Amino acid sequence: MTALDPQHAIFPGSFDPPTLGHADLIARALHLFQTVTLAVGAHPKKVGMFSPDERCELLRGLTADLPGQDRLRIVKLEGLLVDGCREHGAGVVLRGLRSGADFEYEAQMAATNRTMEAELDTLYLGASPAVSHLSSTLVRQIASMGGDVSALVPPNVLAALAAL
Ligand code: ADP
Repeated sequence: MTALDPQHAIFPGSFDPPTLGHADLIARALHLFQTVTLAVGAHPKKVGMFSPDERCELLRGLTADLPGQDRLRIVKLEGLLVDGCREHGAGVVLRGLRSGADFEYEAQMAATNRTMEAELDTLYLGASPAVSHLSSTLVRQIASMGGDVSALVPPNVLAALAAL
C-alpha cells in the first residue's frame, strides 16, 4: 500500500460508454492534477453495453492525443473505491456534477468514503455547459433505438457503437 497523494486524482465511473462529458472532465483533471487515474467499474454481476476491458480500450482511444496523457492511467476497479485509492495511491476522488440530483448521491458517497478512509477527499467539477446534459444512460438509450449520437460521444466510441 502506498501513501495517498493529494496530487493524484482517481476518476471512477462506469464509462459505459464514455461520452464527451467524460472526455471534458478528464482533460480538465489533467490540468489540475499531477496524476489522473481513470477507474473503470468492473462489477462481475453487472452486465453493461461494453465489457470493462472494452471500456478501458475506448478510454485509451479517446485520451490518446490529450495534453498530459502521459500522466494518465486507466485501470479496472473491481472492489471498493477506497481500496482502489489505497492500491494506486490516489488522495482525491474526482467526480462530475451535472445537477442537484447528482449532488445528493455524490455527497452521500463522499461522506461514506471519507468515513472509511480519513485521508481521502472528494472533489467535484461542475459539468461544462456544452456537455452538461450528457449521460451514458442517454447515449445507450438513443443508440439502442438507432438514433444519432455523434454529438454526444467521441469518434472512437461512435465507431464502437456502430459495430455492436
Ligand atoms: P457512475 O455510474 O459511477 O455514475 P458514470 O460513467 O455515469 O459512472 O459517471 C462517472 C462520473 O462522470 C460521474 O462523476 C458523473 O457525474 C461524471 N459525468 C458523467 N457525465 C458527465 C458530464 N456530461 N459532465 C460532467 N460530468 C459527467
